[in-house]
Amino acid sequence: MFQLLENQVGSRLLLPGNERFDERRKVWNTAVDKRPAAIVVCESEEDVLAAVQFAKKRQLSISIRGGGHHVGGFAVCDGGLMIDLSPMSKVTVDETRQVALVEGGATLGDIDLETQKYGFAVPTGTVSETGVAGLALSGGLGYLRGKYGLTCDNIVGARVVTAEGMAIDVNAQNHPDLFWAIRGGGGNFGVVTKFEFALHQVGPEVFALDVMYDFNDAKTILQKAQTYLAKAPDEAVSLNITATVLPPAPFLPEFLHFKKVIMLMGVYAGDPKEGEGIFQPLRELAEPIVDQTGMIPFASYQKKLDPMVPDHVNVYGTSLYFDQLTDETIDKLLYKIDNVPAPSILVQLWALGGEMNRVPANATPFAIRDAKFVLLVDIMAMAGDDELCKLWVDSVYGGLLPHSHKKASYLNGIGANEEATTNAFQENYSRLVEIKKKYDPENLFRYNHNIKTLK
Ligand SMILES: Cc1cc2nc3c(=O)[nH]c(=O)nc-3n(C[C@H](O)[C@H](O)[C@H](O)COP(=O)(O)OP(=O)(O)OC[C@H]3O[C@@H](n4cnc5c(N)ncnc54)[C@H](O)[C@@H]3O)c2cc1C
Repeated sequence: MFQLLENQVGSRLLLPGNERFDERRKVWNTAVDKRPAAIVVCESEEDVLAAVQFAKKRQLSISIRGGGHHVGGFAVCDGGLMIDLSPMSKVTVDETRQVALVEGGATLGDIDLETQKYGFAVPTGTVSETGVAGLALSGGLGYLRGKYGLTCDNIVGARVVTAEGMAIDVNAQNHPDLFWAIRGGGGNFGVVTKFEFALHQVGPEVFALDVMYDFNDAKTILQKAQTYLAKAPDEAVSLNITATVLPPAPFLPEFLHFKKVIMLMGVYAGDPKEGEGIFQPLRELAEPIVDQTGMIPFASYQKKLDPMVPDHVNVYGTSLYFDQLTDETIDKLLYKIDNVPAPSILVQLWALGGEMNRVPANATPFAIRDAKFVLLVDIMAMAGDDELCKLWVDSVYGGLLPHSHKKASYLNGIGANEEATTNAFQENYSRLVEIKKKYDPENLFRYNHNIKTLK
């Protein structure tokens, strides 16, 4: 069945039984174990075109792998064609236009490595191995969001292979409807082979917050951080608060092994000299256990969390937005963290504000522009704990849903969930449906937070 495609892409086509097939179908979340009919490991736009044209003719659904990091494991599918973009990771800086040209399989680390050579950065996320494509197409929350907005707000153009099997340039002038849709609407509309991102002057050294407190102080820390954030400037508003149980890792001193802690991280996205004073109150919210706040190369800080994240992990995750952290919300969340069924958790509250909140809700599909926090919950299941962990995640979501902002979730942090999808897009959903009907009426690209064209 795949002979024609093999004639075009040669050994980049992997079929079940091929020694590389099992390695390539693996995604970050090992709870997702799917077997596509075939995988094309794309090295060029021509490979992507061949794969999409082949799939369209044979009515094969397509899953697209950027970095393979989505908690829902959308990059892989059962029985369809998996388009793996990981070899397409080139990043080039156009200094004149002040844009980065980034291939669809690049990671955040690939971008920082190249752009920092020129003293520039793209606002992306916080773990360097994450794929930029999935992150950017559904938002993109990193340490620069307060000053420069979401990653999707910084897409100025893209090259897209559509379901028709055509490669088109998409920007404010060409296909403006599709340009609107890809800035938050996910992988619903085609394969992005290349992005153009706006660049901002950042670094090379930044003043960055990195302070760790005892989890017992969590309530007062959350309350005081919220008060601080109400007056924080754009440069300081992108605060990430994480509750976790530290692993017994060699890079951590022994007294921290298995300790439940609360960590505060953030980059001051302005003059570092100002940053020191502005971040100071966040270093005094309680008695710190460790405080590594200070000057650091931006590219190094972007990798600081990498050692905490396994390459592959059996994980369950969810997400919700909040207008504010009321005492009731805080108590419910902390109670859940205290009663967790597995030792390995990452519960993150990220402050939202500044530029990302100023973009009008209909300027891109990313509609949640006025929430003040996003909660991201991940639990890594040990052997046999899957059901317990899933129940725990569902209970965190269900328990906090009534307190959430518009019952909406950050789609990059939650698996397939129709209600979460429509709630995230709000009034923008109907426009996305029209654009989906135009560019992918047969729903070839369906492994994502899917825009349904049929009721
Ligand atoms: C360790 C870790 C850290 C994270 N940190 C952050 C963070 O700091 N900030 C943040 O905002 N999010 C973060 N996330 C969430 C992240 O944004 C999502 O996991 C995102 O989907 C990752 O993109 P990917 O390309 O790796 O994903 P994939 O799983 O490859 O893809 C996700 C979705 O995008 C589609 N897609 C991928 N590539 C393309 C493409 N080229 N064209 C069209 N569609 C495509 C896929 O089909 C799929 O539907 C993190 C996730 C992990 C696991």
